[in-house]
Amino acid sequence: MSIKTYQLIDTHAHLDEVEDLDKAIGEAREAGVIAIIAVGQDYESNPKTLDIAEKYKDIVHPALGLHPWSLGKMDASKIDLTLKQIEDNIERTVGIGEIGLDYDKRVIAAADKERQKEAFKAVLELARRYSKPVSVHARYSWKDSFDLVKESGVKRAVFHWYTGFSSVLREIINEGYFISATPAGEYHDEHKRAIRETSLENLMLETDCPVTYGREIKYQAYPADIVRSLKSVAHIKSLAFFVVAAKTTENALRFFGLAEQVKKI
Ligand SMILES: [Zn+2]
Repeated sequence: MSIKTYQLIDTHAHLDEVEDLDKAIGEAREAGVIAIIAVGQDYESNPKTLDIAEKYKDIVHPALGLHPWSLGKMDASKIDLTLKQIEDNIERTVGIGEIGLDYDKRVIAAADKERQKEAFKAVLELARRYSKPVSVHARYSWKDSFDLVKESGVKRAVFHWYTGFSSVLREIINEGYFISATPAGEYHDEHKRAIRETSLENLMLETDCPVTYGREIKYQAYPADIVRSLKSVAHIKSLAFFVVAAKTTENALRFFGLAEQVKKI
């Protein structure tokens, strides 16, 4: 059975940063991708993400975001403008993301924890008000990120590329939230552990493209590399590819409310 026969969903991709989109999307279709969630991250990338989703309507579904990495270059009025931009376009989206907290010291130097939390809370409040799912970036901020999502009352959250503590992971799962697996599941110990400790019920797949992956051999990811995410989850959990594909795709369709829109082949 060829890998093409699987139907996969890339639940977190930065398509506005991919250079040759026609090629990337063509290859994704070849690899069995039936939907891509394109995430935005700030005032500039959000409208690009909407345009891409409009152009590749049958396969790309947009989420608009406010990424902690972008806060350093934004003043308060720009943050407010971005929140307004997200709200004005909310009906066109399938979710809100990429949003979150990043406690890496270089990120904190540009936007301290309080500024990050304030922006995160504001955008979570939009997600709650409009009942949208969120795609959360949590780096070295796992507990705070989880607590803020839970306190916000948001019902659907995915902690993408999760590499944090097992204790917080248990809370994420108990709350009915998700994590998503990237191609780093092939080699990254903390991410592998998180995948091992999460049942398929709470797992989705993603690429976070165009991120660069790999240890010895490095490569830039495209949505077609979702197949690497699939295979690494299957290996870690000793499950057949088709079992992982079916369940993670079902989860993603439900999570993003896409069951009606996405035609299964
Ligand atoms: Zn991302």
